[in-house]
Amino acid sequence: MILKNFAYLSLLGLASAQSASVTDMASAAQSTDPTEECQPYSADIVNNIKDQFPEIWKPATIVDGDDDAQQKYNEIKQVIPSNIQPKGTHDGDFSNTTPDYDASDPDCWFTYDKCTSPKIDGLAEDFWKAPEPNTWSLGFDDGPNCSHNTFYNFLSDNDLTATMFYIGSNVMNWPYQAQRGVEDGHQICLHTWSHHYMTSFDDEGAFAELYYPIKAIKAITGVTPTCWRPPFGDVDDRIRIIAEGLGLRTALWEYDTNDWKIGTEVTPDKVEQNYQDVIDAAKNGTFDDAGTIVLTHEITGPTMDMFMKMFPKIRDAFEYVVPFYAARNITNLYVGDDDENTGETFAEYVSDVYNGTSVEAATSTNSNEHPPATVTGTNGALATVANPTVASIEGASATDIIKAQAASTNSNDNTDGDGDGDEDGDSSAFSFGGSFSLASGAALMLSTAFVTFAL
Ligand SMILES: [Zn+2]
Repeated sequence: MILKNFAYLSLLGLASAQSASVTDMASAAQSTDPTEECQPYSADIVNNIKDQFPEIWKPATIVDGDDDAQQKYNEIKQVIPSNIQPKGTHDGDFSNTTPDYDASDPDCWFTYDKCTSPKIDGLAEDFWKAPEPNTWSLGFDDGPNCSHNTFYNFLSDNDLTATMFYIGSNVMNWPYQAQRGVEDGHQICLHTWSHHYMTSFDDEGAFAELYYPIKAIKAITGVTPTCWRPPFGDVDDRIRIIAEGLGLRTALWEYDTNDWKIGTEVTPDKVEQNYQDVIDAAKNGTFDDAGTIVLTHEITGPTMDMFMKMFPKIRDAFEYVVPFYAARNITNLYVGDDDENTGETFAEYVSDVYNGTSVEAATSTNSNEHPPATVTGTNGALATVANPTVASIEGASATDIIKAQAASTNSNDNTDGDGDGDEDGDSSAFSFGGSFSLASGAALMLSTAFVTFAL
């Protein structure tokens, strides 16, 4: 009878084929039949908030009337470099950019030359390796996939936790699958709202692509992420600063399995060989001083199947397989004091998961580590722009790129950067203790290291 009603509603266009049996995280975790798992369901936890979010899978902008987002953007906007322009199209056509792009890669554009060391002083290096030796830093992009139960069961059965880079639109579509990610102990990070090339967005669009998945993950799973991975690795220093302003560390990779191309551009055999190359490198001692990050995906059944197939070889070749936070000795997985905020150091994680195996101490010093994001305590506990790393940008010595910008820009003495010509630093959000400001389209002035924020 229920099925009949659904069929009837479907004919009327009132409902798609909804799963009658999925009502919460536990029921969504039951089936391991992909067709059944991917039956759409209706969840109040999404229905009650979706008008506060951009349209799913569409390039994001700040939602009309979202004062919290607007306020946060206004704060961050003041430290966004004006000399790095958007690049290409949302779909990754850079033909309007690359012919004229300076070969020295002044923007530290990963898409251009795999740059992971920002050119702007004060921005920490991206995550692209694991500092701990012989360690595979485990992460998966593009989830939550509706059909991930077999895969997540496999991870649990093998005492594996990973860093999951969830797409905001997927979280809204599959909220119970996202909740399972947290429940299973995975670290939840984000992978933008709509999965487009980030350097193509203007400042506000790039902000919205990061802000709304944070908000969705918080609303649906209860945790506020502290890291992200750009789709296609498309990031430059302008995007890094916007992410930093939201308390997000930028994660990339060292090796790419190209698993997401299975069935289109590459064969499963080729992807298996890509995995095998990393495994062979481990056996040859390549990771004796530092481990690695390998790009792998939750995007389709074949990508999840491939990891499960290759894991026994990975386990044999690498001493440890750990989530990003453990590989980097980061103990604050999330913003705030949530119960889920239970990150462990590498030594603690290894001791817990590898049956009492002890390592003497964390071998990485993380001298290049981002400091933890600070917390607002209000407005959904988003990290504030009053972030030590952002603050250090203000006090940084001028880099060549900034010098070039300052030299080429006609200073109009509008040093507070608000465009109104006064110099009173009149932002109610924060004030600069020095004369530094990153002015939109105006001069860029550097001076003291002291920055104060009054949020
Ligand atoms: Zn992706």
